Amino acid sequence: MDNPFNLTDLLRDNIKNLVPYSSARDEFKGEASILIDANENAFGSPLDHNYNRYPDPLQHLVKDKLSHIKGVPAANMFLGNGSDEAIDILFRAFCRPGVDNVILVPPTYGMYEVSANINDVAFKKVNLTKEYQLDLDGIQEAVDAQTKLIFICSPNNPTGNAINRKDIELILNNFHGIVVVDEAYINFSQTRSFTQELAEYPNLVVLQTLSKAWGLAALRLGMAFASKEIIEVFNKIKPPYNINQATQDIVLEALDKVDQVNAWIKETVAERELLVKELVKIGYVQYITPSDANFILVRMDNPRGLYTYLVQHGIIVRDRSKVELCEGCLRITVGTPEENKILLEKMTAFAG
Ligand SMILES: *Cc1c(COP(=O)(O)O)cnc(C)c1O
Repeated sequence: MDNPFNLTDLLRDNIKNLVPYSSARDEFKGEASILIDANENAFGSPLDHNYNRYPDPLQHLVKDKLSHIKGVPAANMFLGNGSDEAIDILFRAFCRPGVDNVILVPPTYGMYEVSANINDVAFKKVNLTKEYQLDLDGIQEAVDAQTKLIFICSPNNPTGNAINRKDIELILNNFHGIVVVDEAYINFSQTRSFTQELAEYPNLVVLQTLSKAWGLAALRLGMAFASKEIIEVFNKIKPPYNINQATQDIVLEALDKVDQVNAWIKETVAERELLVKELVKIGYVQYITPSDANFILVRMDNPRGLYTYLVQHGIIVRDRSKVELCEGCLRITVGTPEENKILLEKMTAFAG
């Protein structure tokens, strides 16, 4: 672990040498009255609103607005068709199939492993500790010359807790591959986002999403924040028009409603604490991991029994009881106050 970080050395040769697709919208920018360069339908769309023109490949308007909200320059921002697109691009940029490897720290988000498998990239699993924190010695032992990425999800899914900041900083300082910090749930956390540390760590990639706190899961908009150089690599690899016009339009509108989103975040956190306060009173509930997210991981007797009982009453939670280190656990997303009330009633009734 003693070569300094060097982005060029880390990149796969095919990506380093890649000549990206140059779209019609890349080659001409500016005002024009007749656009006959992209084989679009010049008449319009069979809709009230026109979608006949290809969208802005780099989503400048959306990024400008996000830049104000996040306090990150647009040049340090990549937008993907969900965070999952950003995760896939990381593999394609840095990991040679069958040669390189990545480090995963389970129990964590399942998509990192799926993306590794799709890209035929090996992964080494270094389990979190019993307290769901990083096993720093284990990670140091697992890292070898072919290790390109370490994925850290904080607050972590499915456990809900934030990972100790000092530990993430230690890895950023000592690992000379890319450290991916997935902050899908950062809006619900007391902890500070790593997006403000991009200048300090050239090997940092922070992932966020509009799918959770922002309530826009169906639009598919994920964000990656990183150095300008890493973002340029992302932009080279991504499909030219990866964020469609409808999504860009609707997101622009949604981003004006920060106050609404912040009010929901407050209410979600308050409801989360209320749920915890009531659930610990239930006899079969053993432990609830302190949560920095919009869900809680609840350890209990007979999780499968409760899962089935809740399904019978039309309530679906996530069964994580077969996941290593989550034995006995169900993951429950915080709902509306009405939904949480019904959940509590049913969970109390199951006890009796
Ligand atoms: C939900 C979630 C995401 C979001 O993925 P999108 O593709 O942006 O919807 C990313 N990371 C984690 C850990 C998540 O739980």
